[in-house]
Amino acid sequence: MVMKQDSTLENGLESFIDEELIWSEIDKAINPDPSLVREVLAKAGERKGLTPFEAAVLLKNTDLEMDNEIFETAMKVKKGIYGNRLVLFAPLYITNECANQCEYCGFNARNKELERRTLTAEEIHKEVEVLEDIGHKRLLLVYGEHPKHGADWIAQTVRDVYSVTSSKSGEIRRVNVNCAPLDVEGFKKLHEVGIGTYQCFHETYHRASYDKYHTAGRKKDYLWRLHAMHRAMEAGIDDVGMGALFGLFDPVFEVMGLLYHAMQLEMDHGVGPHTISFPRLEPAQGSDIAFSPPYLASDHDFKKIVAVLRLAVPYTGLILTTRENADFRKELIKVGVSQLSAGSRTYPGAYSDPEFDRPDVQQFCVGDSRSLDETIRSIVGEHGYVPSWCTACYRLGRTGEHFMELAKTGFIQKFCLPNGLLTFKEYLEDYGTEETKKVGEELIRKELANYSDPERRNLLTDRLARMEKGERDLYL
Ligand code: SAM
Ligand code: SF4
Repeated sequence: MVMKQDSTLENGLESFIDEELIWSEIDKAINPDPSLVREVLAKAGERKGLTPFEAAVLLKNTDLEMDNEIFETAMKVKKGIYGNRLVLFAPLYITNECANQCEYCGFNARNKELERRTLTAEEIHKEVEVLEDIGHKRLLLVYGEHPKHGADWIAQTVRDVYSVTSSKSGEIRRVNVNCAPLDVEGFKKLHEVGIGTYQCFHETYHRASYDKYHTAGRKKDYLWRLHAMHRAMEAGIDDVGMGALFGLFDPVFEVMGLLYHAMQLEMDHGVGPHTISFPRLEPAQGSDIAFSPPYLASDHDFKKIVAVLRLAVPYTGLILTTRENADFRKELIKVGVSQLSAGSRTYPGAYSDPEFDRPDVQQFCVGDSRSLDETIRSIVGEHGYVPSWCTACYRLGRTGEHFMELAKTGFIQKFCLPNGLLTFKEYLEDYGTEETKKVGEELIRKELANYSDPERRNLLTDRLARMEKGERDLYL
C-alpha cells in the first residue's frame, strides 16, 4: 500500500506518491550488490515485472557489463511479448491556446512570440485528410489547456476527426487524446465519442519541482492531475496512458513515481496503464529550462530508463515520439518501445498548410523529421519490424483489463502479429512507395513462411489475397 500515512487532504484528494518512501528506496538501491542486480534481472527475465525498488536497483547499477545485460534482457522480454510488431501513429495538434504556465513548454501562456491557433472543424478535416492520404489510421489529438475549450468542445473535435474519410482505405480507426485532466463528467463525454486511450503526463512526480515549474493556471494543482487517470477510469475509459517529462527532476525518482502511479491504478481499478510515455525535455520557444534541463539524462541513461520500464511493466505499451532522433530511436525500439509516432508536426495546421510547417513555431524541436514512408522503410528494411495500425482489439471491445489478460497468454503473437501484417499490407497496397513496397512484400513473405500455426497461416494468406483484390479493413 502506498498511501502516505501523514498526508493531508487537499480538495478531498490525497497523494499516493510517498516521497519519503521513494527516497529511502533510492538510498537502499545506491551501488547495488551485483548479486542483487542479477536476482532482479532473473525475475525480470521471467516477465514478472518489477517493484519500484527493483527498478531503482537496475537504474542505480553502474557496472557497464551489467547494463548490457539489462539491455539484453529487455530485448528478450520485448521480443517474447510483442514479437517484431511496432504500432505507428501521428500526433494531431488541435489547439496551442493555453492558459497555463508550464516553464518547459512552447505553448506556455507567457510565450507572446507564438502565434496561437485553434483549428476549426474545416481545418481539422483538411489535416485529417492529409494524414489519411499518407496512410495513418491512428491519431493522438493534442490540446493546450484553455477555459474556453471544455469537454464538449474536445468531444466535438474527436467526432470531427472520426467523420473524415478520404480516398483508398482512408479513415481514422482510433483517436487517442492528450488533453488536460477533466472531471468525471467531462471524461464521460470523451468516452461517449469513442476515444481510444486518454493520455496525460504527470511531468514530474516530485512535488516541489512540480510547484516550481507550473506557476499559473489549472495545471498548478498537482493532485487534480495526479488523480486524472482514476477519474478517466471512473468515467469508463479503460485505456489510459501515463508519462513523465524526463529532464525536470531525478530520473530514478520519476521512474519510481510512474510505477507507484501504475500500482495505485491497478489497486483501485484492477488494471494499470495501457501505455507509458517518456518524453525527454527538448528545446522550446521562450523556455530557458527547455534549453538547459536541470536533470539531463545521457543517451545511455535514457536507454536504460526505457529498458527498465519494459522490464518493470512488461505488458504495458511504451510510446516513443519524434522528440528523439532517428538513430537513437532505433536503439530505443530494440530495448522496449512498442509504439512509435512518425512524420510528426507539432503546430496546429502544419500537415496541410506549409506556412505552419516551420521549426520555429512547433511546440518543441522534432528530432526525427523523416516521413512516414521513410520511417517505415527503415524499420522494415533495416530492422525487420512489422509496422502495425491494428485497432481490432479496441473495436471488438478488448480493452483495459481484458487486453492485459490476453496479452499475458501469448495473444499478441496469435492476433496482433497477423493483424499487424494485414494493416501493413493495406498500407503497401494503398500508400507505400515502390521502394517501400519492395521491402514490405519481402517481409510479409518471410513472416508468412515463419508463421508456426498452419490454420492461422491459411486464414492470413486468404485475407492477404483478398486485400490484393481490393478488400480492406480485414482482421482476425
Ligand atoms: N496541455 C496538455 C497537458 O499539458 O497535459 C497536453 C498537451 S502537452 C502539449 C503534451 C505534453 O508535451 C506535456 O504533457 C509535456 O510532457 C510535453 N512537453 C511540453 N513541453 C515539452 C518540451 N519542451 N519537450 C518535450 N516535451 C514537452
Ligand atoms: Fe499548456 Fe500543456 Fe504546454 Fe503546459 S504542457 S503550457 S498545459 S500545452
